[in-house]
Amino acid sequence: MPFSSLGLSPALQKALEDQHFTKPTPIQQAAIPAILSKKDVLGIAKTGSGKTAGYVLPILMNLQQTPGPKNRHANILVLVPTRELAEQVKNIFQTFNRALPQPLKILAVYGGVSINPQMMGLQGINVLVATPGRLLELVDANAVHLSSIETLVLDEADKMLNLGFKEEVNKIIGLLPAKRQNVLLSATLSNDLQHIHQILLHNPVVIKIEAEEDSLDDITQVAYIVSEEKKGPFLRYLIKHHEMKQVLVFASSVHQAEAIVNKLRKNNIEARAIHSKKSQGARTDMLTLFKSGKLRVLVATDLMARGIDIDALPFVINYELPRSPKDYVHRIGRTGRAGAAGDAISLVSQNELHHFEVIQKKMGKQVNLIDSENIP
Ligand code: AMP
Repeated sequence: MPFSSLGLSPALQKALEDQHFTKPTPIQQAAIPAILSKKDVLGIAKTGSGKTAGYVLPILMNLQQTPGPKNRHANILVLVPTRELAEQVKNIFQTFNRALPQPLKILAVYGGVSINPQMMGLQGINVLVATPGRLLELVDANAVHLSSIETLVLDEADKMLNLGFKEEVNKIIGLLPAKRQNVLLSATLSNDLQHIHQILLHNPVVIKIEAEEDSLDDITQVAYIVSEEKKGPFLRYLIKHHEMKQVLVFASSVHQAEAIVNKLRKNNIEARAIHSKKSQGARTDMLTLFKSGKLRVLVATDLMARGIDIDALPFVINYELPRSPKDYVHRIGRTGRAGAAGDAISLVSQNELHHFEVIQKKMGKQVNLIDSENIP
């Protein structure tokens, strides 16, 4: 099914071509017509499925038909769990918004940065992408009104609840007009989510994308047995041997991430760390550098990795295994996105071997295990 049969305007179809999105992903095929016809949608899909464009495109289409915004009354609200995702979603809105004959005003708001520019930016807002806490602050300050919201999107709703945003989300829902369209996206459908789903959605179109297994097929996984003290040199060997120009390395802690970066830099390999102890400004700068290909190695902790979305990231390295098998799948899923090929390499010490067995069993895939001692 081509994009041209989904009811999108020629301007948006042209923008899709410019992005080299040649055909809609499964979630896009189902979500775009449903959202265009103003239905509620429940999407069980992960990052990597193309879910964002799946709601951004029809929302922009629908907005073309609505009258302009009343002052500080947003039309569309997208709630997301993290600042990184807020920026990412806003950027995807902007990519397609630029192509419209009458572009709309789109803003991302989140905590950890100064509130004043956000307050000023809300004048004449159409689409607001927000993390829950900061949104409530802005509502309290009368900087934005939610009584004209036509469509609410909860993106990565499961993560929003995991991060403790349940009360805030409930409060925000209470501020919205009763008659509106609701789009709920989540990687899983937990009990908490069932509850929100029941209060939020009316007769939803349910879209379930089993992306995990599919997307793992595009990823070549390999693991090396490496002792803890040799992991540093081995990482450098891998980066050089594979001539990696862009690689995301996972560390188990902030401390470890910093240590890995220091060693790489001492060996003249350009690397930076991204984790919760870095300021928001530093995190954004590093992501921008890395995405643009100007930074060779980004070392991340699991929480930070959630918001990283890079087209065709070729390499992911697990310097240490994550504790949860789910996180392993999430980490390696940063590569091989949207059908592109990718390599995921894990450095596994003797102590981690048993845990790696567990991960493979849970994932349902066997990974080729090589003893690094056999490498000259
Ligand atoms: P998402 O699941 O929304 O985080 O999207 C994952 C990645 O897929 C993003 O890098 C998008 O740019 C890309 N993408 C989304 N839709 C398409 C498409 N139809 N064709 C190719 N790539 C896409």
